[in-house]
Amino acid sequence: MNEFELIRRYFQRGALPDWCPIGIGDDAAMLRPPAGEALLICTDTLIAGRHFPLETAPADIGWKALGVNLSDLAAMGGKPLGFLLNLTLPEADETFIAAFAQGLFAMADQAGVALIGGDTTRGPLSISITALGSVVEGHALRRDGARVGDHVAIVGDLGGAALALEQGRAASSHLRQALDRPWPQLQAGQALAGQAHAAIDVSDGLAADLGHILEASGVGAELHLEDLPLHPELHVLAPEQARRLALYGGDDYALCVCLNDAALMHYRQRCAVPIQVIGRIVEGAGLYCRDDDGDLQPLSPQGYRHF
Ligand code: ADP
Ligand code: MG
Repeated sequence: MNEFELIRRYFQRGALPDWCPIGIGDDAAMLRPPAGEALLICTDTLIAGRHFPLETAPADIGWKALGVNLSDLAAMGGKPLGFLLNLTLPEADETFIAAFAQGLFAMADQAGVALIGGDTTRGPLSISITALGSVVEGHALRRDGARVGDHVAIVGDLGGAALALEQGRAASSHLRQALDRPWPQLQAGQALAGQAHAAIDVSDGLAADLGHILEASGVGAELHLEDLPLHPELHVLAPEQARRLALYGGDDYALCVCLNDAALMHYRQRCAVPIQVIGRIVEGAGLYCRDDDGDLQPLSPQGYRHF
């Protein structure tokens, strides 16, 4: 099977949406972004053995490769439109490709996004996806807009992916979902667009990612660790271990949001996905929590670092 057959068989599907008059099969795709909206574009690469364990099911690899990109669009408050797929495969293994495509399109269909192009090459397994979305101009959720007095809040739950990684094969299938099939918080992101002051998706651990908002916004934050929305399977752990996973574990793809009372109310009226307030934005710099005696303790911002 050559690459053109492979693309036709596994990746080219029916009619394209209105905003994409030219898609797979030409030299470039053509886009017509929705009138009055700005285009959002982001890209993420998954390398076998680094971003997912080598034994990960091919369908889960497909799901996650797209899911992590859509999570970045969610964190900007964007509506997802489509994506490009750059696939590097060691061989044209049809069993792998069919399962990969099935997981990829399961995520794509749930999010309502279309595959509009890509590139296919031979080499060590890696998947690079570029996602496209749109947002009303001025409504994008940036990292640099947090204000003193804002609530710090989380949509989604924390620590499940890190616990699944720690447990390896011993992880329950429910826990394993947190690692292999992350859910991008697209609905929540869109409900927060133009309302919240700042947002980021939690991919490298809450402390690290909230740290990016604090740095970009020139503020600090105080967290109540007892309010962290833990993945249900973390409730059996000792509190310190659960908090460590929730603060420093990666791959959760929850949204961390800074917003005022009015935006919080607006969100709760419009979106059924729970949002949990975990702290406040304060003057100064850095991340703090209150210990059991009510004293402020600094939290180090370490998360997953590639280098
Ligand atoms: P070119 O030689 O012009 O780069 P390619 O042969 O790489 O063209 O690709 C041919 C068409 O197939 C293009 O429209 C490209 O976007 C699409 N394509 C290639 N690989 C993929 C893929 N993995 N998924 C989706 N579309 C792809
Ligand atoms: Mg090409």
